[in-house]
Amino acid sequence: MSPYRRLINGIKNILRPQKTSKEAVVDAVLQPQTSVQIKPPVTHVPLRIPRAEHSLSRSMISKSAVSVLYKLHNAGYQAFLVGGGVRDVLVGRRPKDFDVVTNALPEQVRSLFRHCRLIGRRFVLAHVYFGDEIVEVATFRAQHDKGGDGVIQDGRIIRDNVYGTIDEDAWRRDFTINALYYDISDFALLDYTGGMKDLDEGVIRLIGDPIQRYQEDPVRMLRAIRFAAKLKFTIDNSTSAPIFQLPHLLKDVNTSRLYEEILKLFFSGHSLQSFNLLRDYKLFDHLFPQTAACLNNPEAVTLLNHVFKNTDERLMLQKPVSPAFLFAALLWQPLQQQIAKYSAEGKTEQDSLFAASRDVLTRQVQRVGIPKRVSLVIHEIWLMQPRLTRRKSKRNFALLEHGSFKAGYDFLLLRASAGDSSVGEYATWWTQFFHGDDATRNNLLFAEEPRQAAATVKRIRRRRKPSKRPLQKDAPPNINGSDE
Ligand code: ATP
Ligand code: MG
Repeated sequence: MSPYRRLINGIKNILRPQKTSKEAVVDAVLQPQTSVQIKPPVTHVPLRIPRAEHSLSRSMISKSAVSVLYKLHNAGYQAFLVGGGVRDVLVGRRPKDFDVVTNALPEQVRSLFRHCRLIGRRFVLAHVYFGDEIVEVATFRAQHDKGGDGVIQDGRIIRDNVYGTIDEDAWRRDFTINALYYDISDFALLDYTGGMKDLDEGVIRLIGDPIQRYQEDPVRMLRAIRFAAKLKFTIDNSTSAPIFQLPHLLKDVNTSRLYEEILKLFFSGHSLQSFNLLRDYKLFDHLFPQTAACLNNPEAVTLLNHVFKNTDERLMLQKPVSPAFLFAALLWQPLQQQIAKYSAEGKTEQDSLFAASRDVLTRQVQRVGIPKRVSLVIHEIWLMQPRLTRRKSKRNFALLEHGSFKAGYDFLLLRASAGDSSVGEYATWWTQFFHGDDATRNNLLFAEEPRQAAATVKRIRRRRKPSKRPLQKDAPPNINGSDE
């Protein structure tokens, strides 16, 4: 550009009316919403708490996580423990797992560890394996306007792989109590967002603008509930209020991700509390609409209270828990309603059960992506129920060997413990039969009125020729076995 042209342009610029700061903000807001608009102060200087002034020591961190931190550090990368591993230790709990964050890119992390795999597409991270234990290693994330592999559609994060620095990463995390960093280079804690204060005061607070953060990722609503239930913390008003308006956002979340999140909510040892909070915040209605529609029935609520109490107790005793069992209970009442509908239309008991099971599960997987292998077991548990509440017969021996017997039997016990009077005596009978030796079992099967016992023996002898006498269909099992 010639000196003359430059002079003219300079004069034009001076004479052009300048925009007020308000106008500049309006312009910014009117930009197409392709990236995050409300920017947190990413250059904020963190509160640095030296080792002598906090309670987190290396002995509280799993050896595997410590070795990952050191390996990254020794290779010249920054390495921090972050998330639940820091949060839980600081409140005196044993962390479920340990999350590491670094400035090494995923590929660089992978090349550093022998047993390491990159997982995820929406959020790529490295899994480092130590036998059964997995240490998750993430790379610092940044705002999406930095370029890289970040996609936001209608305010929702579709892909979150824009890498940055720790100063940027802190503001991309969900809650303040989850954004505390333990620096392996000097054992200090870094707090960018006020997490230490919230941890002290027992508060769950979203970082940034709550509505925007929920729109970016609606699963954060479920995470707020999970941490409130687990830590017995209060959700700050600004973080809790929008949830009531936003349950519908969950409909755009991948249903498999919701399934995983539901398992975390219900299998963290605080399922009853999680259930109650999900109901309070109207999130349950979205996740389990068929069940929610039955919750005015006290029997349905009692059964759910029992299954959650039972689940929490089993986890406390470190016993295994089964997703299929929990879902079978969650959907039991809708199943009963659907069976009643089909029975009223004249379908047989068996056909009604099959059709109802198909309907209820098909509707449920539209909200929460229950994997096929799990829904098959749910179906088996339900199918087992009429078999366990039939009159006793020699077939009961074969039932004991059935692959789904134990789950079906446990479910029968659950129903009985929740006060379902139609199954109480069957539950007692099956408990004696299941735990008894051969003599006890024979005794239980054949301890009937003499005439009936003779008929049973006859029936068993003539296995292939069914007796002409109709079987007494609904005879309850003899649970005391004392009249042989
Ligand atoms: P826990 O492992 O006990 O369930 P956690 O807080 O460690 O709790 P993770 O799912 O392991 O949860 O995630 C690790 C960290 O990653 C979180 O503490 C948080 O900082 C960040 N994080 C996880 N999910 C999200 C999310 N949806 N949005 C923003 N940050 C998230
Ligand atoms: Mg974690």
